[in-house]
Amino acid sequence: MPVKRVDKTPMPVREPGQRAHDFEEVNAGYCFAHAMFEAERCLRCQDPVCVDGCPVRVPIAEFMHAVAANDLPKAAEILRHANPLAAICGRVCPQESQCEMNCHMTKRFGPVAIGHLERYVSDWEMAQPETDEVKEPWREEKIAIIGSGPSGLVCAGELARLGYHVTVYEALHAPGGVLRYGIPEFRLPNKILDWEIKQLERMGVEFVNNVIIGKTVTMDQLFKEYGFAAVFIGTGAGLPKFMGIPGESLNGVYSANEFLTRINLMQAFEFPRSETPLKVGKRVAVIGSGNTAMDAVRSALRLGAEHAMVVYRRSEKEMTARIEEYEHAIEEGVEMHWLTNPVEVLGEDGWVTGLKCVKMELGEPDESGRARPIPIEGSEFVFPVDNVVLSIGTRPNPLLVKSTPGLKTHSWGGLLVDERQVETSVKRVYAGGDAVTGAATVILAAGAGKRAAEAIHHDIQTEAA
Ligand code: FAD
Ligand code: SF4
Repeated sequence: MPVKRVDKTPMPVREPGQRAHDFEEVNAGYCFAHAMFEAERCLRCQDPVCVDGCPVRVPIAEFMHAVAANDLPKAAEILRHANPLAAICGRVCPQESQCEMNCHMTKRFGPVAIGHLERYVSDWEMAQPETDEVKEPWREEKIAIIGSGPSGLVCAGELARLGYHVTVYEALHAPGGVLRYGIPEFRLPNKILDWEIKQLERMGVEFVNNVIIGKTVTMDQLFKEYGFAAVFIGTGAGLPKFMGIPGESLNGVYSANEFLTRINLMQAFEFPRSETPLKVGKRVAVIGSGNTAMDAVRSALRLGAEHAMVVYRRSEKEMTARIEEYEHAIEEGVEMHWLTNPVEVLGEDGWVTGLKCVKMELGEPDESGRARPIPIEGSEFVFPVDNVVLSIGTRPNPLLVKSTPGLKTHSWGGLLVDERQVETSVKRVYAGGDAVTGAATVILAAGAGKRAAEAIHHDIQTEAA
């Protein structure tokens, strides 16, 4: 469909073969001419395969059309309706393996920069004047949300929009889950998250921090004493895994979650002005190859490490981090040590001094479908390091399950849910996000929160009818 252009600014030219991400870096921060130019590249295909790649099915062609016509209020409305955390997803979604991977333009010209346009429109929305008006819930039922990560935030927003009283309980002293304590400011500024939370507060959502459900208050109390009609569990998968190798308890060894929480949530970089210390030496080894590992290693550089390295037992091909994060880490000078497996953390006087590793080669695929790493005999060597950060995965914390009779889990700790993928084994207790799937992505957690809100509304209204 032809688009009527309002602005006559000359359009920037993208070189043949230049990818959307390179292009944006050249034109860091879209102006509205760039945004319209990029949106006009969208072919508005009959079969919008990009939408199939988006877990919350943002109507991408309609959104592109609104941007290309410079109708930003409409673009923002389309986005917000499909994805309440668009400003966040525009920054952290792995678009290259979702919507942008499917884009028909990808093969010949490079995908339309869907994520960057999402970010551009959301940033425009954030800059608009706000009212202080707070909406009041108009239904009687109260819903409790446990955990304030993306699944909890989206579930809360959708239920508030439907008129329910919503209270979000968060164990930490600030809401946001991994968006606050895990993903560093250089990738996701806190002011974006604060703005999203403010929108929820304006919709009537109440946030109660420093409350651990299952310890401070039990699930039973939420129903019987507090009178909630339903509960959503969005407690994530924040319990770190360890390798079980000698030396892991030495000073200077951190799990990536602890390392990043000390920096992002506790502001350890300001110590002693902040209360939390973090001792980062000149040489830091991060074990793992996911987004968390890249965030930890890039944070180490910002805290003064002169040699920051990633140590991974498989090859670059099996790395699980977003390509964008990996490229940024390389640009910043992170050393990558592939096919290298740590076998012992070495220390002196209780502090880390080195990481003993063995070289690996790849064999046949294992149960995960990835090539099995096999140690090469006699290839042991030592990296002299001051810190070791373990980023080899996480699992759900069992605290709530242990204190809630009848709440069933898989053997690995993830909550069991019904065929709708929302209700747990306890009636009126719903769940979503990493607590159900294991460590996944922001948009999958957001999608689960949305699905659960719809189910909660449906079940409550069906029962009332
Ligand atoms: P979480 O975000 O984990 O939030 C759960 C919240 O529940 C936490 O605040 C926790 O304190 C609280 N809680 C837990 N138990 C209780 C309790 N008993 N009572 C009260 N509160 C409780 N995904 C991407 O898509 N892109 C990325 O770039 C990306 N980068 C990442 C970087 C890092 C460092 C990490 C750790 C993850 C990253 N992810 C990324 C994954 C993504 O952040 C998660 O999949 C997502 O945040 C999961 O959301 P959630 O709502 O399930 O839970
Ligand atoms: Fe793409 Fe993520 Fe936006 Fe969906 S939410 S359109 S996957 S960037």
